[in-house]
Amino acid sequence: MGSRVQADINLQALTHNLKRVCNLAPNSKIMAMIKADGYGHGLVQIARALNNADAFGVACLNEALILRKAGVSRHIAIMSCFSEAKELPVISKHDLEIVIHNENQLDILDDIELSKPIGIWLKIDSGMHRLGFDPEQIGNVYERLLKSNKINKPINFMTHLAAADDFSTVATEKQIEIFRQTTDKFDGCKSIANSAGIIGWPKAHSDWVRPGIMLYGISPFSDKTGADFNLYPVMSLRSKLIAVKQLKKGDRVGYEGTWACPEDMPVGVAAIGYGDGYPRHAKNGTPVLVNGIKCQLAGRVSMDMITIDLRNNPTAKCNAPVVLWGDGLPIEHVAKSADTIAYELLCGITQRVKFIYSI
Ligand SMILES: *Cc1c(COP(=O)(O)O)cnc(C)c1O
Repeated sequence: MGSRVQADINLQALTHNLKRVCNLAPNSKIMAMIKADGYGHGLVQIARALNNADAFGVACLNEALILRKAGVSRHIAIMSCFSEAKELPVISKHDLEIVIHNENQLDILDDIELSKPIGIWLKIDSGMHRLGFDPEQIGNVYERLLKSNKINKPINFMTHLAAADDFSTVATEKQIEIFRQTTDKFDGCKSIANSAGIIGWPKAHSDWVRPGIMLYGISPFSDKTGADFNLYPVMSLRSKLIAVKQLKKGDRVGYEGTWACPEDMPVGVAAIGYGDGYPRHAKNGTPVLVNGIKCQLAGRVSMDMITIDLRNNPTAKCNAPVVLWGDGLPIEHVAKSADTIAYELLCGITQRVKFIYSI
């Protein structure tokens, strides 16, 4: 490994995971969610590798424009856009689809002139209470949009599930039911399911599914890992040992000395820290692979380094390969040890990390 910290991106794993989505939702089209720089994996590279997806979903106009600039010609839908009139001519020019979720957007659409109409998804708030119109408003909003010559017909419909990863609540059943009742009478495509909906709620599949986290090989359910659903991890975050120290019983390691050696023991120092996006909140005991052997974090994560208990790996030496997550070490386990979710870890990788794409 030439660089200090490297994120290996396995594009074959990515296309395998896309096939898994096809198998799970065989009658649905796939809008691959690649917002936030492809969940931290690299927006353009991920889009190019997912050329079997039917469409891409991004969060904002800028992400869509980066894709168009890179020559990605597929359908692109922008989840939270627009809020100002000046965005619309750009959206129209680049053939982007938008999600209409509030009155302000309807007003702007009324007032603007566009040379080419825009494809839209009308968002319904079926219970998440974030974006979207209330179900009771949909009749009026739909009528108003039908009259507009600024948008393409038919109008498509979507909603977002708030708790599809939780089987102990009826919230998801309820959301699906509300969405169906609200939209059944309209033509146009319907879309409900994120990854948890795709895996856990076949009733949510509908015309289009919107997988995100599962494409990257990660379980949307916190008590499972991607492997439980035959998903392969796409990112492996790697570094190496840059020092091994023999410490004495009672020696404290790192900032604030949160780790005191319970016996004489070897401690390894790996060249990765929160400056690379490794979570500072990772606790003592967080799993780390050294030479393929599972070891544990010992002491605080610093900006450029972490320290590792090598008692079960005493022959590990300088330059030994270290895996922080990915191949052989599910990111879900690291996320749990850092009191967060894999999504956040992936989005947090910094520019200092070198990305290597393998096909
Ligand atoms: C991000 C996103 C998804 C994908 O969610 P995952 O949990 O990553 O599968 C689906 N729909 C919308 C509207 C999103 O913003």
